[in-house]
Amino acid sequence: MIQFKNVHKWFKDLHVINGVNLEVKQGEVVVVCGPSGSGKSTLIRTVNQLETIQEGEIWVDGVNVADSKADLNKVRAEVGFVFQHFNLYPHLSVVENIILSPMKVKKQSREQAEKKAMELLERVGLAHKRDAFPQQLSGGQQQRVAIARGLAMNPRVMLFDEPTSALDPEMIGEVLKVMKDLALSGMTMMVVTHEMGFAREVADRVVFVDQGQIVEEAEPEAFFLNPQHDRAKQFLKQLL
Ligand code: ADP
Ligand code: MG
Repeated sequence: MIQFKNVHKWFKDLHVINGVNLEVKQGEVVVVCGPSGSGKSTLIRTVNQLETIQEGEIWVDGVNVADSKADLNKVRAEVGFVFQHFNLYPHLSVVENIILSPMKVKKQSREQAEKKAMELLERVGLAHKRDAFPQQLSGGQQQRVAIARGLAMNPRVMLFDEPTSALDPEMIGEVLKVMKDLALSGMTMMVVTHEMGFAREVADRVVFVDQGQIVEEAEPEAFFLNPQHDRAKQFLKQLL
């Protein structure tokens, strides 16, 4: 579903992605972790071309998104993205946030889009908040709305960039639960997170990134019990 082939990216002279090869198969959940500044956000943002690359190929559901001829609107409609800071539209209600893209991009009728939005709000436990505005919701609720918004486009892939790291601790669980249910439903997911409980329980593979390179890629148990790379060992120690 997603394949990185020898991907390189520079910000001016800063080599932030340095020869990444990675495959995420349909239905797989891959967790990406690593130190701050190692390039995790940049890497995940290349999948729907929020960041462009200078070298390599990124295939998403049969399309090389790094090709200048790729239809990015089509790619972005298939790839949902959930940000650390939710990024809901503050002037729109919960339901309006969710139906905006389906109506604009997919030309769905309001009725059709609202029906789907309400199904998704049920799924994330927030149907009763349909007419609330984002600032009237807790961080955990906002993030669940953001996930529902991503799902409203019927994506084939969902990307998450530290979806719980801006949340108060008591709200992390409710968001991880929604993500876990989504994984169990068969969604293909790439998740940047330091929530190691989630990684252990849900991920098929864990990828450890350091200085723009994947230095370790393993099944969760192997990664947590027996990390190979020194930087990975250090990193895991800091999380304890
Ligand atoms: P992570 O998500 O792992 O913390 P990032 O992908 O955000 O890492 O950043 C990787 C490196 O790229 C960092 O050194 C960061 O400062 C730099 N960087 C990120 N975005 C930009 C940008 N838009 N312009 C210049 N440098 C950037
Ligand atoms: Mg980041």
